[in-house]
Amino acid sequence: MTVLGFGVIGTGAIGTEHINRITNKLSGGEIVAVTDFFPEIAKKVVEQFKLDAVIHPDDTSLIADEKVDVLLVTSSEAAHEATVVAGVEAGKYVFCEKPLAISAQGCMRIVNAEMKQGKKLVQVGFMRRYDSGFVQLKQVIDNNDIGNPLMIRASHRNAEVDESYTNDTAVVGTLIHEIDAFHWLVNDDYKSVQVVYPRKTKYAHNNLQDPQIFTIETISGIVINIDVFVNCQYGYDIHCEVIGEEGIAKLPEYPSVVMRKEAKLTTRILKDWKHRFKDAYDVELQNFMDSIVKTGEPQGPNSWDSYITAVTADACLKAQRTGEKVQISFQAKPKFYNEKIAQ
Ligand code: NAP
Repeated sequence: MTVLGFGVIGTGAIGTEHINRITNKLSGGEIVAVTDFFPEIAKKVVEQFKLDAVIHPDDTSLIADEKVDVLLVTSSEAAHEATVVAGVEAGKYVFCEKPLAISAQGCMRIVNAEMKQGKKLVQVGFMRRYDSGFVQLKQVIDNNDIGNPLMIRASHRNAEVDESYTNDTAVVGTLIHEIDAFHWLVNDDYKSVQVVYPRKTKYAHNNLQDPQIFTIETISGIVINIDVFVNCQYGYDIHCEVIGEEGIAKLPEYPSVVMRKEAKLTTRILKDWKHRFKDAYDVELQNFMDSIVKTGEPQGPNSWDSYITAVTADACLKAQRTGEKVQISFQAKPKFYNEKIAQ
């Protein structure tokens, strides 16, 4: 069996989670190298998971390591682009956590580097596409079971966020998952976005408008309403309902025992995003490894998908600032990315 050698750049929260799943749950991958701005964190992870991995001083040295087939980029957002471009230029496969780059131009630089290599090398960590509920919802839409989708009503709610979370984070850290998932879900591109701020919750700090409602329209006219409410207090909650011409399809609730007790009907709501999508992260990474071995290219969300999310996110940020309806337009999709449909 082929075993892909992973080099991990950034051994923080999600880096550690992915190291754990590659080492202890999934098959076909081995962590052979790590690096972090804090070498002591990298060392701690190597010890924690008893890895036979080289601790590199930086990403340049890790990319040059011949044992590394795949870069797992789980560093901070602003560091992704430079690492991914260097990795692609060295011909390495890359699994990069979102965002691929912090600007649309940055994503285009990666797109161009990848096309120059003549081969798809990059997959981005948009794990919603691997969540069994989202996969079932997409099947219903693709089968035409509810006819043409007309509207989507969705919510992205967190119990609470800290002071470092700003209005921008609501788009680039939170809504970014819906931006990626919904154009994939309905096979359509985005046309415009507008943002409305309802009455602000007393739990939001001064620099944050919370909740926010994003209305995104697609080329075919589907209107998508998403509330981002990150101090909702009660838990981590993801909703999505697609209203079609022939019926309505709803994302299943995360499974939890329903209890009848003391004249109450109750079911548990998760508190942490890590738990809500833990299975999706497993499927995503297993699928990434399997498709490289079977087809020579990752088949999941790619650099072009990231360009789409970055352009749309920029429009959402502008809509937040202006209160106006902002038009969204993309460059023509290169043929290179049309050959295979992501996931
Ligand atoms: P984190 O805990 O801060 O870990 C990132 C680590 O990488 C930090 O120790 C950081 O050091 C280090 N680092 C930054 N740039 C580096 C570089 N060039 N070389 C080596 N190490 C570097 O962050 P996290 O929460 O794991 O998030 C990492 C990424 O995953 C982010 O892009 C985040 O948006 C994404 N993420 C995705 C999901 C998802 O649902 N798909 C969930 C969580 C996180 P410094 O602190 O000094 O920068």
